[in-house]
Amino acid sequence: MKKWIAENPERARTIRIRATKKYAKNHPERILASVHRRRARVKAADGFYTEQEVQRQLDSQFGLCCWCLKPMLEYTVEHLIPLDRNGSNWTINLLCACRSCNCSKKHLLPFYEWTPPFLRRDKPCSPLEWLVFWRVVERFVEVVAM
Ligand SMILES: [Zn+2]
Repeated sequence: MKKWIAENPERARTIRIRATKKYAKNHPERILASVHRRRARVKAADGFYTEQEVQRQLDSQFGLCCWCLKPMLEYTVEHLIPLDRNGSNWTINLLCACRSCNCSKKHLLPFYEWTPPFLRRDKPCSPLEWLVFWRVVERFVEVVAM
């Protein structure tokens, strides 16, 4: 099974998405409960941010995802330290990530429990990519040291 997934990543992705959609359709109450739990966590967490602050963050990342460093057409607000691990809504804890990275990281602590895709890739990096990644690492150290 693992081998087949590794050999057919696109097909496996399609099947996974289809299964997720089917699950969501058959269990609307579970999806709703999960959305409510998430909203409650965001509300309960310390801090808040403005749209301008998110825009500033996005600019400082040159529109690249903080984890895979690919240009983002659409971004999500990423909590560096996840909310359910006592992360806050203060801007210091916020980055911009693509949906795929944000969903893959979930409630995991970056570097310790989850390796960003950027560190797993084998092609060389541009100075701009390094700069953005450096900023992310610096921020992580700052947040963890707080
Ligand atoms: Zn990404």
